[in-house]
Amino acid sequence: MRFDTVIIGGGLAGLICGIHLSKRGQRCAIISSGQSALHFSSGSLDLLGTLPNSEEVESPVQALTALAEQAPNHPYARFDAERFVTLANKGAELLREAGIDVIGSAEKNHYRLTPTGAMKPTWLTFGGYVHSASPEELEWKSVALFNAEGFLDFYPQFLADEMRRKGTKCNVHTFNLPELEILRQNPTEMRSANIARIFDNEATLNELANQIASRIGDEQAVLLPAFMGINSQGNLKYLMHKLNRPVAVVATLPPSVPGLQVQTLLRRYFQELGGTYMLGDTAQGYQATQDKISALYTRNHGDIALKADNYVLATGSFFSGGLVATNTEVYEPLFKVDVCYDSEREKWYDRDLFQAQGYEEFGIATTPTFNAQRAGQPIENLYAVGAALAGFNAVKQGCGAGVSILTAIEVAEQILSKM
Ligand SMILES: Cc1cc2nc3c(=O)[nH]c(=O)nc-3n(C[C@H](O)[C@H](O)[C@H](O)COP(=O)(O)OP(=O)(O)OC[C@H]3O[C@@H](n4cnc5c(N)ncnc54)[C@H](O)[C@@H]3O)c2cc1C
Repeated sequence: MRFDTVIIGGGLAGLICGIHLSKRGQRCAIISSGQSALHFSSGSLDLLGTLPNSEEVESPVQALTALAEQAPNHPYARFDAERFVTLANKGAELLREAGIDVIGSAEKNHYRLTPTGAMKPTWLTFGGYVHSASPEELEWKSVALFNAEGFLDFYPQFLADEMRRKGTKCNVHTFNLPELEILRQNPTEMRSANIARIFDNEATLNELANQIASRIGDEQAVLLPAFMGINSQGNLKYLMHKLNRPVAVVATLPPSVPGLQVQTLLRRYFQELGGTYMLGDTAQGYQATQDKISALYTRNHGDIALKADNYVLATGSFFSGGLVATNTEVYEPLFKVDVCYDSEREKWYDRDLFQAQGYEEFGIATTPTFNAQRAGQPIENLYAVGAALAGFNAVKQGCGAGVSILTAIEVAEQILSKM
C-alpha cells in the first residue's frame, strides 16, 4: 500500500497532522491501536498554564521567552512568538472546521471549572463547559446543579462548596429517569459514556427538562455533568430553550464524553478529506535504508508493507505505549529512536506526588525540525509529534494539547515544504 505520509497514532496529534496534510492534497494513513488521551480529556485544551517555576501564565504567547529560559528543551522553545500564534490559530481553526465548538485564544488564558470546583487556566474550552475570564468568580450569582441519581463519577458537594467561596450560591439536586433505573441494575454501567447515550433520545431529554423545570427557582443557570448525549450536538441548546436560562456542563471523571466526541469528529473530518484511518491496528515493524524509513508493517496487515515518503510518530507517552520504561532504561518501542531520559533512576520520580515528576519530561529526542534520530543521527523522513516528545511536563505546565496540536501542524508543514 502506498501513501504520501503514514502517521502512527490516532490521538489529537496524529489526527491534526493527518487533517492538515490531507487538506493540502496528501494521501495519508493513520494507524491507531486504541484509546487516546482524548478519552480522558477534562473538557478543555491547554496551551500553557504554568511556567516551570510555578508562576501562573496569563498570556501563553507573552510567556514564551520565560518558558524558553526555564525549559530550553521544551518543544515550544523552537517557535518564536509569531510562529507560536500562527500555529495555535491554525489549530483552533482546524478544530472548528471539524465541527468542534471551542472558545478561547492563544493571547490570553481563560479559566475552566474543574470537577473539584477549582478554576484552571486553559486555552480552548469545548462549547457548553462552565468557564470564566477570572479565576475568582463565575458568570452567575446563583446556579442549580443537577446530578443523575447513583452517578458516582461526579462530586456536586465539592463543586457547590467551591462555588460558594467564589460568591455563587449553588443548590444541589438529583434527577432520576426510567433509563437510569435500567443502567443502575448493574452499577458498573453508571458511567458517563453510558448515561450520555440515553440523552440521544429526544423523549428522555424532554423528560429531564420537565423534571428540572419543576424544581428550579430563580437560579440564573442550570449546571449538569458533562454527559448530555453522545451523537447529538444540540442538547444543551434544547435545554436552554426549554428552561429559558443558560445551561452548562462540568467535567466528570473519565471516560470523557466531550473527549470521545472530539476524537470522533476529528476522525470523521480526516476521513472526509480522503484519509485512511486504520482503527485497532498497531504498527509493529519497519524497514529502513541508511537514514530513511522505507516501509512499515502492522499487526493487521501482516507482510503487506505500508510505503510512504514520510512517517510521523504520534504514539503518545507512557500512557499510550509510545514510551516504555524498564527498571534501567526508557525506550521508544517501534523504531528504537533516541529518547531523552535521566540515567539516574532516582531522578525519574519524586516521592512527593504533588511535585513535578522527572519521568513526565522524558520523550523522543528530535532535531529542531522534529526529525527523530538514532545515535544522534537524524532520520530524514521520520518525525515525532505530540505527547511522545521530550522536554515538557503536560500536567504541571498545562500544555499537553498545545504541544500536540502545534507540533503536529509544524511537522505537517515541514513535510509539505519538501514536496
Ligand atoms: C489521562 C490524561 C488526560 C489528559 N487530559 C488533558 C486535558 O484535559 N487537556 C489537555 O490539554 N491535555 C490533557 N492531557 C495531555 C495529552 O497528552 C494531550 O492533550 C494530547 O491529547 C495527547 O495527544 P497525542 O496524540 O500526542 O497522544 P495520545 O493521545 O497518547 O495518542 C497516542 C495514540 O497512539 C496510539 N499508539 C501508540 N503506539 C502505537 C502503535 N505502535 N501503533 C498504532 N498506534 C499506536 C495510542 O493507542 C494512542 O491512541 C491528558 C493526558 C492524559 C494522559
